[in-house]
Amino acid sequence: MPKEEIANLALRRSLFFPSAGIYAGSPSGFFDFGPDGETIRRKIINLWRKQLVEKESMFEIFGSQILPEPVFRASGHIQNFNDPIVQCSKCNSLHRADKLIEVHSKGIVPESLSTTELDKLIKKHSVKCPKCGGSNFATVKKFNMMIKVDIGATGDSSCYLRPETCQSIFLDFSRLYKTMRHQLPIGIAQAGKSFRNEISPRNSLIREREIGQMEVEVFFNPDKIDEIPNFAEVENYNLNLMLLGKKTKPISCKDAVKKKLVSGKLVAYYLARNQQLYESFGIPVSKMRFRELDKDEKAFYARETWDFEIETDLGWIELVACNYRTDYDLKGHQKESKQKLAVKEDGKEFIPHVFELSAGIDRSFYVTLDLVFRKEKRGSEERIYLKLPAKIAPYDVGVYPLVKKDGLSEIAKKIFVNLLDEEFDALYDEKGSIGKRYSRADEVGVFGGITVDYQTKDDDTVTYRYRDSMKQVRVKIPELPSFLRKIRKEFTDKP
Ligand SMILES: [Zn+2]
Repeated sequence: MPKEEIANLALRRSLFFPSAGIYAGSPSGFFDFGPDGETIRRKIINLWRKQLVEKESMFEIFGSQILPEPVFRASGHIQNFNDPIVQCSKCNSLHRADKLIEVHSKGIVPESLSTTELDKLIKKHSVKCPKCGGSNFATVKKFNMMIKVDIGATGDSSCYLRPETCQSIFLDFSRLYKTMRHQLPIGIAQAGKSFRNEISPRNSLIREREIGQMEVEVFFNPDKIDEIPNFAEVENYNLNLMLLGKKTKPISCKDAVKKKLVSGKLVAYYLARNQQLYESFGIPVSKMRFRELDKDEKAFYARETWDFEIETDLGWIELVACNYRTDYDLKGHQKESKQKLAVKEDGKEFIPHVFELSAGIDRSFYVTLDLVFRKEKRGSEERIYLKLPAKIAPYDVGVYPLVKKDGLSEIAKKIFVNLLDEEFDALYDEKGSIGKRYSRADEVGVFGGITVDYQTKDDDTVTYRYRDSMKQVRVKIPELPSFLRKIRKEFTDKP
């Protein structure tokens, strides 16, 4: 769906909106999530937790957002986490040099280009300032994207807001390895916020300064990268792989390993689990791909990187960076902290290698909205609804009395409370006409609706209205929980 449609819906229903919006000049790239938006966002995280963290027996942690400077010396962020910026000589506005060149050259500019190479490209493509149209720029400079914070009254302890959630996982690995009595491979996960001082935040939730991330780091013995007990479960599952310079093609996990397109079974296995997770968001596989990154495009710590991307109205959007980080992180922290982070297994001492799935929460939320947004003409009326799968719909069911009087509210409230007690996410709404209440619920993707009317008083039945087809059926009140479970399952099996 066009981004204007999504922006309109997001603002009209307060799904998400710019932070500190009542103050003019608040910096961009920060967002608040309203009630229904936050519920969908939370359900996306919960689905990730269920499918990836719990089913794969990983450990989930919740780390601090502020970490001391040595962490980022060890991780390489102080030296390497830079964006190239360039200033317009006429209006003094600052821009990301690589992105600016991309707009003019209509090609991808690798992140690893030197500042001199970028200077040359700016001249070559006669880049113009997007703000004033000027064509004179100062030389490109490297700008570190971490946000510094000073801790303590004298500010003598230099810290940073973490630029990625995974650093806490690396810092905690050794402790968890010892205390949780586990053998490699071990998956450690975290959902939380990270922070990047983006020069030009844009495209709504796609390029933020405060980023929601859900990350999984799998620690393993590199000699055993092909020893994955559950590999048989995915071996015939097709990954949509876009190899360097090639078109996207479905390739089974087994073949990807056999043809050495990935470093080993462990990598193919987690790529499959990732693709399956996004299938459960209601996204068709035909809109997904794993794009292999060239060495110029990869992050400084990665040996192998697949960007998991989804096709939207904004083009292909990267949702998950799948990185083989080797022993880069633990080695760096061992050196800087002088603590031993190696493990001893099978009589051999080594530093574990890491494969990561680093997903953007808010991006996943945005892309899901883009793909489930529906606009239909019904006669003269226009209808908008979100075709969200039950698992991430903000509510399983809305409960509505047809009118407030004649005891209908009381019956409806009782049904509402019973459904909450039965572990359904239910919503109660008695304000406005029933048609208005249906369309309010449809717009945020509430999965279905129950209406209590005069017939309810005679025969103990209610109307259940399907969100997508608007079909209505009568259901007996005592049978509501089993009925709701059944249709939820039907949708999950066949969206
Ligand atoms: Zn300018």
